[in-house]
Amino acid sequence: MKHGSNTSGKGFIRLTVLFGFMALLLVAGGTAWFGAFQSSRLREIASDQALRMRLVECRARISSIEQQFGDGTLSAGRQMELQSKLRIECARFSEIGRSAEVQPESVLGQWLKHRKPLVAPVSRESLQLMIVDLDGMIEQMNARIAADNDSLAASLNWYLAFITILLIIVVLAAGRLIVSNYRHSIIPLHQLSQRLTLLNCNLPESLHDTAEAAETLLSGEEPSAEMRSVSESVVSMCHDIEEKNRKLDELHIRDEKTNLYNYRHFKEHLIIDVERARRLKGDIALAMIDIDHFKRYNDRYGHVAGDRVLARIAEIIREECRMTDIPSRFGGDEFAVLFPKTDRATALEISERLRSIICDEPFEYESNQPGGQLTVSIGVASWLDDATDGTSLITNADKALYKAKHLGRNMVLAFSKPLEVEEEEGS
Ligand code: GH3
Ligand code: MG
Repeated sequence: MKHGSNTSGKGFIRLTVLFGFMALLLVAGGTAWFGAFQSSRLREIASDQALRMRLVECRARISSIEQQFGDGTLSAGRQMELQSKLRIECARFSEIGRSAEVQPESVLGQWLKHRKPLVAPVSRESLQLMIVDLDGMIEQMNARIAADNDSLAASLNWYLAFITILLIIVVLAAGRLIVSNYRHSIIPLHQLSQRLTLLNCNLPESLHDTAEAAETLLSGEEPSAEMRSVSESVVSMCHDIEEKNRKLDELHIRDEKTNLYNYRHFKEHLIIDVERARRLKGDIALAMIDIDHFKRYNDRYGHVAGDRVLARIAEIIREECRMTDIPSRFGGDEFAVLFPKTDRATALEISERLRSIICDEPFEYESNQPGGQLTVSIGVASWLDDATDGTSLITNADKALYKAKHLGRNMVLAFSKPLEVEEEEGS
């Protein structure tokens, strides 16, 4: 549902950008065309104005000659002189008709075409008629130039309105794009960069939070394609590092051959659990397990076969332990199982079950072991009955194991004070 609306949002942005781009093209193309069109019209108006000016000048000179004709005291010589001036004016006037600016089909062209040429000698009356004619033409040209100017101004206004609308579309499109970029790229990128800075200061604790923040960005308001790609990379990178950290942690606490906890992890737990038992006045027990005559087995069948036995016994120990127990490889052929919140009786019960299962397990070549079976001996000690701290718990469980070995192996024995006395006596 959300994805659908996001897609339509994206489509809307694309449409806006497309409109903006088209508007920009129209502005560029329209301006070029309109500029060319307007300059050709301006040239036409300028040429009309120039022609009008020539007509006006011509009219002024003819009018001056006409006024001089009105003087009744004109001598014959003066009249001849005026006639000759008039001829020059007529020649000038005819030249207007021949000039390239005059379009033959224009009003002026038609007017000039139908004008009767003045033939000397010219009377004052025909000069007055010509002046009236010229006035009419000049008037017409004035009107035409004014109309052309008006239409030029109107088209300029229309063009400005058109360009303004197009520019508004361009600005809206650009604004939409900027807002969209800000919402879908800049803000999320800023949030992500803050997260990554935190991650940098607090690795690996912040990994999970960073992955969650990047996932929120992905599922939030439709991120841009670039933002999506960055967020996905961050999510994948965080999960990848988390996974590798998990594996590293596992490697750090596991024994390679048996996959039980290693000695380091066992010791850490021993300290923590004994301390907790001390605080809460609770129970905690430890079982030390050692394979009987394992050297002999190794010597006869090799260490690879011996390793298989180690792995199988470890598997049995893991299967029989509870979630809260800490089954570990103590070293060599010796295992240690820490039983938090467990009293001695329960630890002995579990240990006895373990011994019995291992004894019944059909190991390869075990028939050649003493008694025809591969077995383990187990010593158990508990806190606070048998020990005061983690170290004495190990020592006393070991003492019980030693005693079990001494008494014939394949048995479970709990530590007891007389046992300690016996040992002291023995030594
Ligand atoms: P006991 O019944 O008194 O325990 O006799 P034992 O032969 O088992 O004597 P001990 O526990 O001292 O011998 C430990 C043997 O465990 C010596 C060595 O051959 C074997 N061992 C120790 N670590 C490994 C290992 O990683 N792999 C294998 N295959 N054997 C190991
Ligand atoms: Mg042994």
